[in-house]
This record gives sequence, C-alpha cells and structure tokens, in this order.
Amino acid sequence: MQRNIALVLCAVFFAIALLFATRPASAAPAAKAAVVSAQRAEEVVASANSDKYHRLTCDYADNILEENKVYYKTPADAERDDKYACSVCRP
Ligand SMILES: [Zn+2]
Repeated sequence: MQRNIALVLCAVFFAIALLFATRPASAAPAAKAAVVSAQRAEEVVASANSDKYHRLTCDYADNILEENKVYYKTPADAERDDKYACSVCRP
C-alpha cells in the first residue's frame, strides 16, 4: 500500500513537471505562426492590365510593372476580382 501511494505521488509530480516543461514550447509555435501569417499577407499578384494572377515567385509576376501590380491575400480574393490562375505557377 505504501508503495502505491509513492507511485501515485511520483506520477503527479511527473505530470506537473511535464506541464511546466511543455509551457514554453507551446508558446514558441504561436509566435512562429504569427511570423508565417505576416509573410502570407500578400500571396498572389496580378497585373492591372491582365486577367491572370500569379504566385509572388512566378517569372511572369516579375514581368509585371511595379505600377500595374495588384496584390491579393489569397487566390480566392483574386478569383473574386475576375482574375484567373496562371497555368505556369498554378497559384
Ligand atoms: Zn504565373
């Protein structure tokens, strides 16, 4: 019986230690997610003179003049503005 109580106490201490150990780790991914969402603020780009939209990394996106660039947060936003996905970069 004495041994069982010691085992339960041991398990409780282990659980508390685990709780404290995982707390800083759970805060880190949240901070990382904030950075990723900031990078994803503008995901696709279209030209004011064209009905196609591209990934920001697409070669065709590089060819769009800076003054004609129209940025969208998501491909769905671009589609809503009557733009079509580029068949080369497939955003
Ligand atoms: Zn493209």
